[in-house]
Amino acid sequence: MHPDAVALLRCPHCRHRLQLIDGSLGCDQGHRFDIAREAFLEAGHLDFIPLDAHGVVVDAGSGPAHHLAATGAELPLALDSSTAALRRAARRATAVGCDLWKELPLRAGVADTVLNVFSPRNGAEFARILRPGGRLITVTPGRGHLQQLVEGLGLLSVDPDKQERLRVKLAGLFEPRGSERHERTLELRHRDVLAAARMGPSAWHLEPGELEGRVAVLPEPLEVTASVDVAEWSSGPR
Ligand SMILES: [Zn+2]
Repeated sequence: MHPDAVALLRCPHCRHRLQLIDGSLGCDQGHRFDIAREAFLEAGHLDFIPLDAHGVVVDAGSGPAHHLAATGAELPLALDSSTAALRRAARRATAVGCDLWKELPLRAGVADTVLNVFSPRNGAEFARILRPGGRLITVTPGRGHLQQLVEGLGLLSVDPDKQERLRVKLAGLFEPRGSERHERTLELRHRDVLAAARMGPSAWHLEPGELEGRVAVLPEPLEVTASVDVAEWSSGPR
């Protein structure tokens, strides 16, 4: 855990500063937070997404912080609600557990960039923690993302109007600064197909055993198109 990163944190319960206390993270009111340390490497199938960000970069819903690590962040901060994800993220960033729908454990105006990859978007909190002139980078599924997997497994398709809904949701807090679609064909082994299906929207989740059965009869490797929209947003008038 980087000491400069700790100085940017605040307790979401009492808003007092967070500091390292006996090897864990806490405030003077007794609230305590998980800090993860374990290391873990995983396959980075979405590594082709170009993400350039410097300074203090907060990855909200970081998962294992694979994408955060690919930026040029001097001070990377990973936020996630999953302890397992945080353990992996800790190899690459200062990793703090929190509920992404609630107040985030950061002081106001400290982030140069907020990164949000396939994760819940708490627009008001993103706006609060960004410095003036800071930017938000969102990565969302593009049209046809993992379509062959969706078809092959008989799953429900992803909402194609996600980008438009995102724009509406962030209106008033952020101004759109442009969006680019990036696509690549992935060759997935069955275990990767399973992992992707389990990470997808809840509508994809089948009964235990059913998913495995459907994957078993697919070609291996399965060619799947990954399609993502990378959009930049700047803080709007507040
Ligand atoms: Zn507190």
